[in-house]
Amino acid sequence: MSKVYNWQLGRDMHYPYEEAHPEWQFAAVFNINRCIACQTCTMACKSTWTFSRGQEHMWWNNVETKPYGGYPQGWDVKTLKLLEEANPGKQIWEAHEKGEKAPYGEYEGKTIFEAAPGRNSVLGYLPKDQDWRFPNIHEDTSTKYVGDSLGISKTGVSLPEHKAWFFYLQRICNHCTYPACLAACPRKAIYKRKEDGIVLVDQSRCRGYRKCMEACPYKKTMHNIETRITEKCIGCYPRVQGQEPLTGGVPTETRCMASCVGQIRLQGLVPVDPKTKDWKSDPKNPLYYLVRIAKVALPLYPQFGTEPNIYYIPPRWVPRDYLHQMFGPGVDQAIETYQNPSRELLAVLQLFRKDRRIIFHYDIEQGEKAHEILLRGKKRTIYDDTITAYGKENQELFKVKVEEPFYIRGKERTNAV
Ligand code: SF4
Ligand code: SF4
Ligand code: SF4
Repeated sequence: MSKVYNWQLGRDMHYPYEEAHPEWQFAAVFNINRCIACQTCTMACKSTWTFSRGQEHMWWNNVETKPYGGYPQGWDVKTLKLLEEANPGKQIWEAHEKGEKAPYGEYEGKTIFEAAPGRNSVLGYLPKDQDWRFPNIHEDTSTKYVGDSLGISKTGVSLPEHKAWFFYLQRICNHCTYPACLAACPRKAIYKRKEDGIVLVDQSRCRGYRKCMEACPYKKTMHNIETRITEKCIGCYPRVQGQEPLTGGVPTETRCMASCVGQIRLQGLVPVDPKTKDWKSDPKNPLYYLVRIAKVALPLYPQFGTEPNIYYIPPRWVPRDYLHQMFGPGVDQAIETYQNPSRELLAVLQLFRKDRRIIFHYDIEQGEKAHEILLRGKKRTIYDDTITAYGKENQELFKVKVEEPFYIRGKERTNAV
């Protein structure tokens, strides 16, 4: 095993291969607070990549209802239990601040690589066939609440947490910095692309041993029962590299991102510094800003240790203990920041789903004061700033304002529906 640095854990960790990083890293932010579970993303992926025989059970993108839903069934609970058994009570962070290299302090427990039993390189389990039966079991099922009021507690930071709650969790492959699937493959059939960090399966090398499926804690590699080899999300790489015919030759967001009705998704590429082996400081890249500066978006189960690259703005109404386990120690600060956004954050949040071309940089032009409001007891001023999005070659993609345009329908066009 080699030692590699995992910034989400704030420490070195063991991994079967030497540390190696791509030039750019595929990454995305999902704002859970806005998802309406319409499954348009799910169908966009299905109708593009997994509509053939042997792929019937494959949902490279899925949206599940937490806490009970999951595809395959119980994927996270089962892996969390294995980790807990291997290292009881240690899935916690020592909460000291160490700057950019360890923004959440240092993880005390073992990762799935460090807790691997015997000669295995990763701790995991192989889902049973029946675990793949229901892609959206327990949809819209909330936790039970037995009580006398509306079921709203007064303990939240500013938005009350609900005693009966659920939320939607959007999931694709995380194109992890340290992929567990890659670590476990005895055929070395899985690789991480140098140009964008997308993790792919070499179909000609794969023999369908399903070691990757056992290892991936997010269960995002899937077995094709016709060809008997493994398939997974390909990060829509022809679009990301600007080679899909409809994209006009520029890097374009993936199918599941570009089709998002709730406008919850923003995907892009973050430059990686070969010297520090970490994301290059790039404050005007919207993903860098959201994840590393505003710290409003967090990794999913960072304790697994794969350094996943899909980040989530956590839901405000869910009990904090649950969220701490799912997104780590940054939850309270992320929710506080999202509820009281800075002028810059409010502007960056306007970039979500205004265009399908990948945004590499943004620029903010300050505008007039638009409103003075009282928000959760605090006075706030909203400014009508203009944000400009730029592509890879610094070409302007679009401009958007913080204030949404307001149109009054003429009397001759009254609603006839
Ligand atoms: S398309 Fe967007 S809003 Fe609809 S389920 Fe997918 S992530 Fe949620
Ligand atoms: S989420 Fe799973 S399949 Fe995707 S790169 Fe990470 S370990 Fe591999
Ligand atoms: S990135 Fe592309 S392949 Fe991956 S889940 Fe989204 S649509 Fe499917």
